[in-house]
Amino acid sequence: MPSAQTLAPRRKTRQINVGKLKVGGDAPISVQSMTTTKTYDINATLQQIAELTASGCEIVRVACPTDKDAEALKIIAMKSQIPVIADIHFQPKYVFQAIEAGCGAVRVNPGNIRKFDDKVGEIAKAASDAGVSLRIGVNAGSLDKRLLARYGKATPEALAESAIWEASLFEEHGFHDFKISVKHNDPVVMVQAYRLLAERGDWPLHLGVTEAGPAFQGTIKSATAFGILLSEGIGDTIRVSLSAPPSEEVKVGHQILQSLNLRERTLEIVSCPSCGRAQVDVYSLADSVTEGLKDMTVPLRVAVMGCVVNGPGEARDADLGVASGNGKGQIFVKGEVIKTVPEDEIVQTLIQEANRIAEEMGPD
Ligand code: SF4
Repeated sequence: MPSAQTLAPRRKTRQINVGKLKVGGDAPISVQSMTTTKTYDINATLQQIAELTASGCEIVRVACPTDKDAEALKIIAMKSQIPVIADIHFQPKYVFQAIEAGCGAVRVNPGNIRKFDDKVGEIAKAASDAGVSLRIGVNAGSLDKRLLARYGKATPEALAESAIWEASLFEEHGFHDFKISVKHNDPVVMVQAYRLLAERGDWPLHLGVTEAGPAFQGTIKSATAFGILLSEGIGDTIRVSLSAPPSEEVKVGHQILQSLNLRERTLEIVSCPSCGRAQVDVYSLADSVTEGLKDMTVPLRVAVMGCVVNGPGEARDADLGVASGNGKGQIFVKGEVIKTVPEDEIVQTLIQEANRIAEEMGPD
């Protein structure tokens, strides 16, 4: 865990295993995503899982809507480097197949599984025997009909009550290895639903704003909602849902955790907003530096400042930076100017210096 200050202590939860990864308790908050490939296309799915793993994804979920998908789970679970969660709606038989296939966990949506109540005992036993955990995933769009009738719509109370009811069914069978999510596309409803849940039990919670939208809107909705909950110590694993490539979800997830000191920062670009004093295009310079240093794995703050008036001073806490002016860039380390280079050598010089500093810091 990072040693930097956080806004609140983590809520105390039970801990579960999702494959080799622990979720809840004192385990670091994990970042998840979901593949967009057809799960039955094993090669494409494994390829995307490998890309997600490289981008920092720690748990991956795959959809399982058909027999062909359920049959593919075994190879996918075996070959994936990170735990695989099978996402099951409608068909209890796929839950059993996913457990047998060696998935790290199975997501069930009781609101979508007819006759779910009858199957709980069997699912609990199969999961328990195999050491597989579950996620009870309640969604606003598939809320239990009885609750929908009582509350009129997917209110925070309805979402929380649905989840607590479903949790109690498993607990009655002595099964406790599950986490819960109560997703809604409105961050305010979602936050209230999770707060209600957090008050009522020690279940690990999977945070998500569902159908959050395209990258810009979805990032802000998720960051806002997760920020509120995580700042209160609520949340044990997160999935940012974006209408964008899943590796983008992972990047946003990491950034949210890093912003709250819930995960050690890696590369942090401190760039000025630019103003009338700027003598360089700060936006494109910041983009180029970000791109050039994207593989940096050690914690490094790099400042990109538009002018030499305030540049080094404003970014004194940065490990490295540049302040531009008159077609040149003053390169500074810890606020001290170490050299001045022509503008077209700024990015290259920063990358060289970053690598030198990273080497001095040693392996991460
Ligand atoms: Fe403006 Fe210079 Fe500050 Fe950037 S560093 S905001 S250009 S004064």
